[in-house]
Amino acid sequence: TERLLQKSEKLALLGQMAAGIAHEIRNPLTSIRGFIQLFKANQQKDEYFDIVLSELDRINSIVGEFLVLAKPSAAVYTERDIKVLINDVVILIGTQTILNNIEISLEFDNDLPMVSCEENQLKQVFLNLFKNAIEAMPHGGNIDVKVRKKREGQISIRISDEGVGIPNERITTLGEPFYTTKEKGTGLGLMTCYKIIESHQGILNIQSKINEGTTIEIILPSISQTLLKIDPIQV
Ligand code: ADP
Ligand code: MG
Repeated sequence: TERLLQKSEKLALLGQMAAGIAHEIRNPLTSIRGFIQLFKANQQKDEYFDIVLSELDRINSIVGEFLVLAKPSAAVYTERDIKVLINDVVILIGTQTILNNIEISLEFDNDLPMVSCEENQLKQVFLNLFKNAIEAMPHGGNIDVKVRKKREGQISIRISDEGVGIPNERITTLGEPFYTTKEKGTGLGLMTCYKIIESHQGILNIQSKINEGTTIEIILPSISQTLLKIDPIQV
């Protein structure tokens, strides 16, 4: 019965997410349709084209977030050096940090053990978390990354920002899809992070203080502790 329950729960979640995606994509589609009608009536303004482009970008980012979750069979786990992986992501968001006046400081323990991971998925997690940290500091600030050997067989990765923070009562609901406080947010970033970390048999914790900042801690099993078989992500 436990298996059945799990399956029906998964189906319920799937239905809920499908409804959410349909809704989230229908809004920008309706708006794009309206503007195309205006174009047809020869009402063409530069700003209209800009809106159409940003609505298309929005659809693209919603679909993009789900692609990460929708490819369980493509997941390939390999041994990776977490330091190299995080440095890659920091380079990837280099222009965004410069443009937003953000400084990232990195601290790694020596002799960190390797991590068994789906490299692109883990990169997606750090990318989402860095993006949130940047967006939480509209006037710029520091992001602190500390990677420690927690105890035998575990690695702790803490990403701290000095941003707007999250109200306490909100923190528990943050893994839910489509919760966003941003005008252009998808509300899918953290849900994706939770799913990916869970499938890596890790833990994601959020601590936050309003107007002081937020710390996300990810605890991952290191290579010696990883079970031989890791379940792919299942929605
Ligand atoms: P999005 O970034 O598209 O809004 P996320 O799932 O990444 O979606 O985040 C959901 C919400 O959680 C954000 O809209 C924001 O309110 C809050 N949040 C996430 N990370 C942070 C952070 N580092 N600082 C403050 N608020 C955050
Ligand atoms: Mg986000």
